[in-house]
Amino acid sequence: MDILFEEKQKAIETLNNLKIELYNKGWFPATSGNLSLKIRENPLIFAITSSGKDKGKITHEDILFVDKEAKPILQTKLKPSAETKIHLQVYQRTDAGCVVHVHTVNNNFVSEVFFEKGFVPIKNLEMIKALDIWEENAYIEVPIVENYFDLDKLAQKSGEAINPEVPAVLIRNHGIYVWGKNEFEAKRHIEAFEFMFEYMKNLILFKGSTNIW
Ligand SMILES: [Zn+2]
Repeated sequence: MDILFEEKQKAIETLNNLKIELYNKGWFPATSGNLSLKIRENPLIFAITSSGKDKGKITHEDILFVDKEAKPILQTKLKPSAETKIHLQVYQRTDAGCVVHVHTVNNNFVSEVFFEKGFVPIKNLEMIKALDIWEENAYIEVPIVENYFDLDKLAQKSGEAINPEVPAVLIRNHGIYVWGKNEFEAKRHIEAFEFMFEYMKNLILFKGSTNIW
């Protein structure tokens, strides 16, 4: 199985651009997080950032190409991120074309305070429309899974938690996976979620209660 040179270059360029945009927002602290882009549907191939690299720097060697078993398809010295299997779950269970994973204080905060509920409830915020949800009085639930140490289990549970109405899964005190049909939509979605979580965190602290809606 191989991919064309142009396909490879285009994917690297797209991921690098998105990586820098999100890095500049402070969303990849301490080399955390990762990004991926689907290249082929069947059989599945996607490009993904490798683990442990500073995402503020651009080098073409920081991106690898993996198949439906999360194994590299091209010869590489890079190690696929341990979280590659979570990206794989998202591609297998949704129509995502791009998946973004970030660790932020705001997404960690809401994942912890709403953990017992099993989801973060979001209501009546204009920003919900950025998820392409246009109902009046829109209400959504963003699923939260435990941060299992066993990454195969974490990937499985994250996949099972996916709510088809909502393009995101939170992992408790860890971060969020967000997706869209392409890089443009994935970026809009992650920005919308992080905006709403920051607002909610402030409202919870102001009211002294998670009962904010
Ligand atoms: Zn992570």
